[in-house]
Amino acid sequence: ERTLASGRDERTLLGLDRAHVWHPYGPMPGRSEPYLVESAEGVRLKLADGRELVDGMSSWWAAIHGYRHPVLDGALAEQAGRMSHVMFGGLTHEPAIELATTLVDLAPDGLEHVFLADSGSVSVEVAIKMALQAQLARGHAGRRRLLTWRGGYHGDTFHPMTVCDPVGGMHSLWTGVLPVQVFADLPPAEFDPVYADSLRALVAEHAHEVAAVIVEPVVQGAGGMRFHHPEYLRVLREVTEAYGILLIFDEIATGFGRTGEFFAAEHAGVSPDIMCVGKALTGGYLTLAAALCTRAVAESISAGEGGGLAHGPTFMGNPLACAVANASLGLLRDTNWRSLVRVIESGLRDGLEPLRGAPGVADVRVLGAIGVVQLDHPVDMPKATAAAVDAGVWLRPFRDLIYTMPPYVASADDVARIAAGIAAAVAVT
Ligand code: PLP
Repeated sequence: ERTLASGRDERTLLGLDRAHVWHPYGPMPGRSEPYLVESAEGVRLKLADGRELVDGMSSWWAAIHGYRHPVLDGALAEQAGRMSHVMFGGLTHEPAIELATTLVDLAPDGLEHVFLADSGSVSVEVAIKMALQAQLARGHAGRRRLLTWRGGYHGDTFHPMTVCDPVGGMHSLWTGVLPVQVFADLPPAEFDPVYADSLRALVAEHAHEVAAVIVEPVVQGAGGMRFHHPEYLRVLREVTEAYGILLIFDEIATGFGRTGEFFAAEHAGVSPDIMCVGKALTGGYLTLAAALCTRAVAESISAGEGGGLAHGPTFMGNPLACAVANASLGLLRDTNWRSLVRVIESGLRDGLEPLRGAPGVADVRVLGAIGVVQLDHPVDMPKATAAAVDAGVWLRPFRDLIYTMPPYVASADDVARIAAGIAAAVAVT
């Protein structure tokens, strides 16, 4: 039993947590016992009970540079010394201007205008508003639906939920509340011309009523950790262009190098009309995301009813978040992220491939700094998590998946430890 610097002991804090604090998709009062983290540094989470865990999750894809990075800490402190926040209506500031300019520079060709949103889900809401407003302004009032493929995840707010596969079995709660979108079958891992044709045909069939196609490029994350062939993105680009439908890429999980390219769209060499980024944008320090769009989309919106984009949150363009994002993008520019990701990729292959064929294992897949072990049965989440923790690794298994996306600064030894943690989790479930 440990006492924290505040003087409170671990058991008291966990009791208060259970009584008062909602956790993702959890009941209230809480039933499971979360692990109490006291601090984090580099790739290690330090638990209140004194244990240190190598973080296999990068705080859900975000902490690419690890925790307490001196450059990010410094950028945050420096900006706090100048201005923590200021409204973005009628005012602007250098951190936001620098960030937008850098993102336009880094993004696939044609994306020129940046809306700084306050979370990934909100950036998806904004992207959808961009598409619906642009179509309306172009005289396509009937184009109000979205088309996506099954197995996606785009966030938990209302419109993003409509383009997700059911999350946590809770989607039937919203029957009759949410608009019903158009779904294509799951995109296969390999290129299948028959599937590509069916995708083209589905888009063509619904062209009169669809404003935009929205997908996660190359990797479907929280909807099932599936990888698909990049050629499907070219198919979508071609067919959406042919019918005047907008193409939205949600790069919130895949962006900033995670799949081995800076943006996953680069695997296919295509540019969307609208793109969302978030998560690793601030190196995982603060909540910030962005929706980028082309000049053509922006011009349509600006020429339409109201003359502008219908969104403007209180914390839009938060200077602290923008300053840390600028520092994080600077770190990516100045370090060889590509070789760091390659080291993780080969470590994950070495560590996870031997699990192929192990009892209960249905598939093993690795791409960039992402490693996935899929089971042939649902994972026992508390048991698998505890086994990984006992092996000194933080993982968050779900459904039939035990997976990792380590911070880019993880060493080969750290990656080997993560793989051992995954093997330990597989063995108990
Ligand atoms: N889109 C994708 C692809 C995501 O992976 C996520 C988060 O997991 C979101 C959107 C939602 O982002 P946030 O949790 O920041 O709202």
